[in-house]
Amino acid sequence: MNENGFWRIKGARLLDPASGTDRVGDLCAAGGRIVESLPQGSDVLEFDGEGMIALPGPIDLHVHFREPGGEASETIATGSCAAFKGGIATLVTMPNTKPPVDTPEAVRHQAQARLFPVGSLRILPSACCTRGREGREPADLEALAAAGAAAFTDDGSMVDDDAVMEAVMRRAAALGKVVMEHAVVPSIAGAGVIRDCPAARRLGLAVFPPEAEVEAVARDIALSRRTGCAMHIQHLSCAGSIALIRAAQHEGLPVTAEATPHHLMLAADDIPGDDANWKMNPPLGTREDVEALRQAVLEGVISCFATDHAPHAPALKAKGFAAAPFGVIGLETALPATWTAMVEKCGMAPLEWARRWICGPAAILGIPPPSFAIGAPACAAMVYPEPWIFSEDDIASKSRNSPFIGHTFGLSVLGLLG
Ligand SMILES: [Zn+2]
Repeated sequence: MNENGFWRIKGARLLDPASGTDRVGDLCAAGGRIVESLPQGSDVLEFDGEGMIALPGPIDLHVHFREPGGEASETIATGSCAAFKGGIATLVTMPNTKPPVDTPEAVRHQAQARLFPVGSLRILPSACCTRGREGREPADLEALAAAGAAAFTDDGSMVDDDAVMEAVMRRAAALGKVVMEHAVVPSIAGAGVIRDCPAARRLGLAVFPPEAEVEAVARDIALSRRTGCAMHIQHLSCAGSIALIRAAQHEGLPVTAEATPHHLMLAADDIPGDDANWKMNPPLGTREDVEALRQAVLEGVISCFATDHAPHAPALKAKGFAAAPFGVIGLETALPATWTAMVEKCGMAPLEWARRWICGPAAILGIPPPSFAIGAPACAAMVYPEPWIFSEDDIASKSRNSPFIGHTFGLSVLGLLG
């Protein structure tokens, strides 16, 4: 970057969902802010944006950086490199590190970590709902919020005890914070690792029934109704849950949901065999589930995309489908996969697609949506809507556990500017 921070993108398609604009034009920045124009003759870093699309600071509500405790799989530094590569500017980190993020000191460690040196990349840490992420008693939510927790979640496991979750939600509501739930009832999911599909039958794998998610979503909607707390359901995977969320939103409850790129692109029937890079929680659904998720994104019932970026070192994923940990990486492929699933395959307007990465997640967090308004923080994700084959060489994460290696998307990412 040049000294005064002057840059200009010339002639790109600017998608700015906060203002509802989709137009081709120039984007100028000075000193970290969007400006109308730059002084004549000044030293300006200039980019030719012809054929490219610029989006203001996409937000990923759901990422796992494994620091502390899992640095062989990812650190905050390598995770932020993956975010830069994928054009994601704001990251909500999950608290299931070892130890978990259930103290103010741990929240501050996440929030203040050094990131890849791009000024506008930022972490908004989430913190645990319960002490030790054990589901038995609420964490000190007030202290966690004061330390900068953006949301509360025990992600990786559901808060299964109704009374504990109700207490968490009452306190979160008083703090004006959203609770995000990994909605899977453990007693129903049991040892399941995959939905029923040919690969499951061939390999004799324990099946994960979709009711594990549907029952959890029903419970969480009931608690949102009782407490008034904003409830965000993470990584929806089946049609049954969508029907419940749609009804809750009709009723006026503050219930939101996210869809991951993998649940929008892939179905259980696509799983090639004993390859743990296809193992995630909740597992991939049926083709009907994929269609229901896409429809819910189009309608806005699902108001945001989120990756659930879950790195695991190659040695862990080499254990095979039954024994390997759940989770796939997603930051590098987040924008390409959702573009392909929604814009290419469903005809979603690019501006609405951008809204699910920008305004949707910002509204859930209660923060202003990133935008290209004059005076807004200058941050643009640059993408290119042409076919792109994703390969291992495109991965900046420390881990390689992606089902998309070798996949062709309709969009590539150049990175983040600002
Ligand atoms: Zn997660």
